[in-house]
Amino acid sequence: MADDHTYTLAGVMGWPVAHSRSPVIHNHWIRQLGLRGAYVLLPVQPAQLETALRSLPVLGFAGCNLTIPHKVAALPLVDRVEPLAQRIGAINTIVVEPDGSLTGRNTDGFGYIQSLLDARPDWRADAGPVTVVGAGGAARAVIVSLIESGARDIRLTNRSWAKAHDMAQEFGSPVHAVPWEDRHEALADVALLVNTTNQGMQGEAALDLALDRLPAHALVSDIIYVPMETPLLAAARQRGNATVNGLGMLLNQARPAFEAWFGVLPDITPALLSEVQATF
Ligand code: NAP
Repeated sequence: MADDHTYTLAGVMGWPVAHSRSPVIHNHWIRQLGLRGAYVLLPVQPAQLETALRSLPVLGFAGCNLTIPHKVAALPLVDRVEPLAQRIGAINTIVVEPDGSLTGRNTDGFGYIQSLLDARPDWRADAGPVTVVGAGGAARAVIVSLIESGARDIRLTNRSWAKAHDMAQEFGSPVHAVPWEDRHEALADVALLVNTTNQGMQGEAALDLALDRLPAHALVSDIIYVPMETPLLAAARQRGNATVNGLGMLLNQARPAFEAWFGVLPDITPALLSEVQATF
């Protein structure tokens, strides 16, 4: 907890970064907890990333979040990368250590799993097969966190076959790639379906996926949060499946980062939810 002489700075580094909701989330917690500090937008061009990262200790920052396009580029630029972030292949959180060195972490996977547990406290990764749709950057954090949580059978399907195939090779068992044309059948017997593509996002087409084979007990999650209910989630809800949107992942990935910088693990309260929802 901060004392009267402490002022803690953190921020989100990206290009562009103006759209980020992270300042709303972290500044809400700073106010709610009565801390002295601020969380700011840090617009940093890709060519300036290393200089900007090395400036963090000089400027008195406790650390920062990284967003597009810096999450992968920062990996070789920091002094140490936590094993989970190394496995995911991306950093979303930088912590400035007392000696001024930089540690890279990834809290996206924690955020994803916690969002499922918030919605369904009895959720278990080993409850049955999981189908993951999409093999982009966000899918990596989702898949690694599912494996770490004990998932034993992950069916990965992606429009571009090579990405799903390569990711399955990289992560090994329990991930296996399913051809895009077989994605509808890949829903048979699943306990969890997750969309990690951008399909269903505001301005994008709905995800092209028929839910006929999806069991009634399956949990359906979409990591998109604009809109809060994607066409996939609406279709799943209408046929009686439980659903989880991407807002919980966004809010929960912020919690361990805030704790690393400010020393308190903050809560997701109704007041925070309504402040963030008001930005959509
Ligand atoms: P990305 O690396 O660009 O990956 C995009 C994915 O979408 C790829 O698998 C891509 O398939 C697929 N895709 C794109 N157009 C498609 C189409 N027409 N049909 C089928 N698949 C298509 O993006 P990302 O960083 O992983 O982000 C993906 C989504 O996750 C975004 O909507 C983002 O907002 C959301 N996200 C949410 C959170 C959160 O905290 N809730 C965190 C991170 C990301 P190909 O490989 O074939 O191109």
